[in-house]
Amino acid sequence: MSKHSPISFTPLGGGREIGANSYLIRTDAQQFVLDCGTHPKKDGVESLPDLSLLERAPDAVIISHAHVDHCGAVPYLVQQFPGTSVYATSATMGVMDRMLHNSVSVMRILARERNIEGYPLYSHEDVDFALRRTHAIELDQEFALHEYAESTACFRHAGHVLGSASVLLRLPGHTVFYTGDICVSDQELMTGLRPATDLGPVDTLVIESTYGANMHADAIGYEEQTERFCAAVTRVLARGGVALVPAFALGRTQEMLNVVARLQDAGELPDVPVYASGLGRAVYEVYHRFEDFLHPEAELQPLSRFSRVGDVWQNRVVQGLLKEPCIIVATSGMMIENTPSAMIAEEIVQREEHGIFFVGYLDPDTLGHKVLHSEPGAKLMFGPGRPAVRRVLTDIGHFNFSAHAPRSALHELIQHINPKNVVFVHGDPEAIDWLHEATGNGFRKFSPVAGETITLEA
Ligand SMILES: [Zn+2]
Ligand SMILES: [Zn+2]
Repeated sequence: MSKHSPISFTPLGGGREIGANSYLIRTDAQQFVLDCGTHPKKDGVESLPDLSLLERAPDAVIISHAHVDHCGAVPYLVQQFPGTSVYATSATMGVMDRMLHNSVSVMRILARERNIEGYPLYSHEDVDFALRRTHAIELDQEFALHEYAESTACFRHAGHVLGSASVLLRLPGHTVFYTGDICVSDQELMTGLRPATDLGPVDTLVIESTYGANMHADAIGYEEQTERFCAAVTRVLARGGVALVPAFALGRTQEMLNVVARLQDAGELPDVPVYASGLGRAVYEVYHRFEDFLHPEAELQPLSRFSRVGDVWQNRVVQGLLKEPCIIVATSGMMIENTPSAMIAEEIVQREEHGIFFVGYLDPDTLGHKVLHSEPGAKLMFGPGRPAVRRVLTDIGHFNFSAHAPRSALHELIQHINPKNVVFVHGDPEAIDWLHEATGNGFRKFSPVAGETITLEA
């Protein structure tokens, strides 16, 4: 074996886009898959990474964290290749259990109501089987990837959500660092990623690019966002309204519940009831089980502090929620049609006194983006087949509580790790192109699309 060996790299999804993130790495003898997610904006078999590019069972599948765009296709892959081993941190495994079983339930509803081909992609039994094939690994613990292979991997703290990790892959003659999703600043519950000093030489860096095109994400501090958010919610509650906070089920929901609880305890927010939707609450419970993964000063609340929003597809339940001032943290964060945040917003936008405050990334193609950028008087539709309603509400805002690194930090990380090859993934073409341009010429730079195979020299 030569000291420096090339590898080949193929995005199965998540090349020059965000979604179905999954990357195949091949050496002479081995094949590894990093992440295996479903596309949040596609349905049915269309939402899967292109697993037809796998010629055989991968030697290992390594999952960076439990967002479904990184792990949602794992049960499907394991069903195709039952002998495959999956690796994730113990906390990620805990969250995956909740996220994947929830996906089965959602896919079953969609199959019934919208007749989507291929749904459900897998069953609850398939989820359980995939989790039995998954090894729980602790952070910073180097582990062998295949019984007889000289390849190892190691999970490194990534600061994004509970359990999230970057992956350091030591293959024969080639070292790869895959960032996964990363956050460099501290959040309410997560300690941010600090640049590692003990990685050693890295041949190939595979880096997320979510905020490559967003020049504003750099400038805004977390404390300032919290103050603006607090003022906005206080204003709504003072006029007798309800504040709706659409949030991702994993990460942003738990963070926002703790922000609200802290502000209430400090007397900065009125002591009104706080509601959370089912999956977000279930994941909060997993946060309790893996407290060691959180910021040392994070103070989780008893789950009983947050009430359930209930079955929001029944209008009387939503009407009940809106009777008195309260704060509702509900999925989905981008207000995808027919989710709890959309069902509650359908009522809220028709009244003057309430408020809607987005707190995370908003894809331009989503309902949340449309609602945020609509004008009072606009007609809005919150689910397929539902009647359009007229927007009366004026108080709709966006706060930047992102769990992704701003582009300046991505830039610094590249300089710090100083690899030979940089592969940009997990970003819109605009974001990837900006980073590609802005990264100096001291690196070989790549941004393959899904299905494109590139060769990376060590
Ligand atoms: Zn993520
Ligand atoms: Zn992601």
